[in-house]
Amino acid sequence: MLEVSPRTIPIARPDLGEEEAAAARRVILSGWITQGPEVATFEDEFAAYVGTTHACAVANCTAALHLALHALGVGLGDEVITVSHSFIATTNAIRYCGAVPVFVDIDPRTYNIDPGLIERAITSRTRAILPVHQVGLPCDILPILEVAARHNLPVVEDAACAIGSELRVQQKWERVGKPHSLVACFSFHPRKLLTTGDGGMLTTLDPELDRKFRVLRQHGMSISDTTRHLATTVVFEEYSMLGFNYRMTDIQAAVGRVQLKRLPALLMRRSKLASHYTERIKGISGLIPPHVPAGVRTNYQSYAVQVTDQYATSRDQLMRKLLEQGISTRRGIMNAHQEAAHTDLAHSDLTCSQVARDSVILLPLFAEMTLEEVDRVVDALIP
Ligand SMILES: *Cc1c(COP(=O)(O)O)cnc(C)c1O
Repeated sequence: MLEVSPRTIPIARPDLGEEEAAAARRVILSGWITQGPEVATFEDEFAAYVGTTHACAVANCTAALHLALHALGVGLGDEVITVSHSFIATTNAIRYCGAVPVFVDIDPRTYNIDPGLIERAITSRTRAILPVHQVGLPCDILPILEVAARHNLPVVEDAACAIGSELRVQQKWERVGKPHSLVACFSFHPRKLLTTGDGGMLTTLDPELDRKFRVLRQHGMSISDTTRHLATTVVFEEYSMLGFNYRMTDIQAAVGRVQLKRLPALLMRRSKLASHYTERIKGISGLIPPHVPAGVRTNYQSYAVQVTDQYATSRDQLMRKLLEQGISTRRGIMNAHQEAAHTDLAHSDLTCSQVARDSVILLPLFAEMTLEEVDRVVDALIP
């Protein structure tokens, strides 16, 4: 008899359908495909969703981080305090400015920056603090803002993974991206909750900074393409500063607008799947499910489980066992200081970052995953 093996479970899968395809088609046939009216509308809708006044769309989150730091004047030889324990783009964006990333270690329970380590990393060359909301779990931003205020330093949030995540500020739930710092940067890569293929967004409450982002993303050009297109008189643009081509296209923005509408349902679904994972994993000796501190809500961009010494096998053996059963996993978040591109950087003790990279496993989680598939993954975790 033919055995039908259960389908393989990928680590993630973007949730895109007919409505996104129709939106892309509509824009393609409209005659205006790069940064234009769709980008402008997506920006307004995104700003309203996160609860801010200004949102500026760009090509990706790495570009957003670079623009934010560049616009704040971070340059050659300056220092930016951040974590090594993040996707490499966080560190790369700092180095695009010619600046030096100064790594501090993480809280071993949340995998986010340890706010207590920031102050001692500040020097006369520090120009900014760049915390990350890792895998969508909001970092402990309030004490970070306190340290930053004491030293008069701007804070830029790497919110690449954190669309829809929330934190409680003075008894009120607020979305990441409000922003609570000066700028927050989001990613729309397919591994994040809301995707436009590639794409990014900068949010701020500062109109001057927003204006600067808009000029910088478009070659330093003084007027936008839409303004020039709609002008009834001949207008010549000017280039007052060195800019970049960091535009998002209208095709991407149209897809993003559909995704934003579907986001509340996607968030609810992920939360339900994650709760089911946690309920079951709590009972397995040696595995630690994600720790969500009081006062924050995560979007579960990834579902991260720590494999401790008390577990039956090593993390890597567990990953191999799952793969044999058709279940795709990933290791914990990387550390930039352990990659050849950045081993030239001096750094303080990063033990918790290293332990997290080597002991955490990311399990499959995507909106159209079923509760039965979660059970299949958890069954495979039982030694
Ligand atoms: C994905 C990610 C980025 C980069 O986003 P892109 O849109 O792919 O450039 C930056 N920081 C973190 C923490 C990320 O997870």
